[in-house]
Amino acid sequence: MLGQMMNTQLRISSILEHANAVFPHQEIVTRTPEGPVTRATFRQMRDRAHRLAHALARLGVKRADRVGTIAWNTQRHVEAYYAISGMGAVCHVMNPRYAHEQLVYIMNHAEDEVLLIDRTFIPLVAALRPKLPRLRHVILMTEAEAQPTGADAPFEMLNYEELLAAEDGKGDYPWPELDENSAAGLCYTSGTTGNPKGVLYSHRSTVLHAMATALPSAVNIAETDSVMPVVPMFHVMAWGLPYSCMIGGAKLVMPGPNLDGASLFELMDAEGVTMAAGVPTIWLGLLSEMRKRGRAPNGFKRTLIGGSAPATAMIAAYEGEFGIDVMQGWGMTEMSPVGSVATIPPSKAHLPFDARMALKSKQGRQVFGVELDIVDENDRPLPHDGKTSGRLVARGPWIASGYYGIDQSPLTSTGWLDTGDIATIDEDSFVTIVDRAKDLVKSGGEWISSIDVENAAMGCPGVAQAAVIGVPHPKWDERPLIIVVAAEENPADKERVMTHLAKVLPKWQLPDDVVFIDAMPLGATGKILKTELRERFRDHLTG
Ligand code: ADP
Repeated sequence: MLGQMMNTQLRISSILEHANAVFPHQEIVTRTPEGPVTRATFRQMRDRAHRLAHALARLGVKRADRVGTIAWNTQRHVEAYYAISGMGAVCHVMNPRYAHEQLVYIMNHAEDEVLLIDRTFIPLVAALRPKLPRLRHVILMTEAEAQPTGADAPFEMLNYEELLAAEDGKGDYPWPELDENSAAGLCYTSGTTGNPKGVLYSHRSTVLHAMATALPSAVNIAETDSVMPVVPMFHVMAWGLPYSCMIGGAKLVMPGPNLDGASLFELMDAEGVTMAAGVPTIWLGLLSEMRKRGRAPNGFKRTLIGGSAPATAMIAAYEGEFGIDVMQGWGMTEMSPVGSVATIPPSKAHLPFDARMALKSKQGRQVFGVELDIVDENDRPLPHDGKTSGRLVARGPWIASGYYGIDQSPLTSTGWLDTGDIATIDEDSFVTIVDRAKDLVKSGGEWISSIDVENAAMGCPGVAQAAVIGVPHPKWDERPLIIVVAAEENPADKERVMTHLAKVLPKWQLPDDVVFIDAMPLGATGKILKTELRERFRDHLTG
């Protein structure tokens, strides 16, 4: 017997319309790429998204067409998210930090015909333009008066505000009654080998992911919050925050291109940001700014850190020195991206500080909607005892079942997504990522977790950043090498790092050497590029 409830479809346009009806006066604040801070209400933004949809339709954008964006976190970019998906086209976000050849591949593979960009990316797009035969229009997201001319406009660009102005008085765009399984967003994930692969989100997956992540047991997004997504909108749709914040009614504070500690601090302070989200490297910058000023930004309470493992020392510094609650999130592009969040259950709230920080250093518990499990090499489930490690697999309505336009399955023989991570899961469902399968150091038949060694090193005074890689060794196959960026103040030296590590790690896990470098090579999503480190230091132990 079937239930008798309405089968209304989950659509991204319904988030925009809900925010307009229920939170019309809530604000979105942007530090624009041009410099000034702008503000608009959700209602104003909604009206502008309708006008953009009219404009895109006039430019010939039809259902299922891919519309690209290369842009920072701004109000206009949020408008583009809603207008493009709302009208039934596919919002294809692109990471400007990818190599030129990768971007050309991605745009041609996605067959983008219209592209929206910020002025920062004019030189980038000028370099790519001749290799993009399908691209018909580039729209520059800036004020009409700021539209560049002459040598500053190396190719033809339409102006975003002029396009919107031309649609004045047209009224609402009639959002189509899309099937909820229609494609809504597209994001390519960087493979270290081979071409990037496109993950194609649907309206249904996007709405469900946003609803589930907004829950108190996950990221907890409320109308009283002021949320700053530092994680870029070109990286897995800013972890869904442009959607979840408009479901929860939270103010959105968009940082634009300046993501250094001082710029973030100032904007957060001025806009009373209660929760901010981003990758660990960003939070190191903010931490040093907070230490310099001796305080946290006004109203700042919580941070969501994910994308790679934040060091326990950093989690403890935020909490111990400034009273800021760090929530660690784990996920991946193929998972929209959120799979688990580490929060402290009431039954563990009484634990001493160090034990709570250790718990927060785990990757957390699955959010409702996602099932996580660990399996062996034959895809058989392994015990959740907190000790046995296996390949982490995931299943759920916002998890990719394939890649766009290529015949390569990310699924195991039993139909779960293979995450490429090695993990343990304990009796309370806390997942601990031991390592990315490809980052584990294989030493004489034993595996060493690079995350564990990095975490230990980050607890050493005078270490600003640490990365552990496996390098070839004549006897042990591979041995760990630790690469360190020393802190400006009281910088650590080799002896201090090794003495510190010897106190906390078993002898066989100790790195064979410590190398100091000035700055870590960072990948397109702000994570440390271990592939580059491995290349650079391959012969370090073999000479
Ligand atoms: P890319 O492969 O381009 O970096 P993703 O952003 O999808 O793309 O990366 C997902 C991977 O990042 C995960 O499989 C995992 O290895 C790592 N990761 C994400 N969040 C965490 C976390 N909190 N702790 C440890 N690793 C993480």
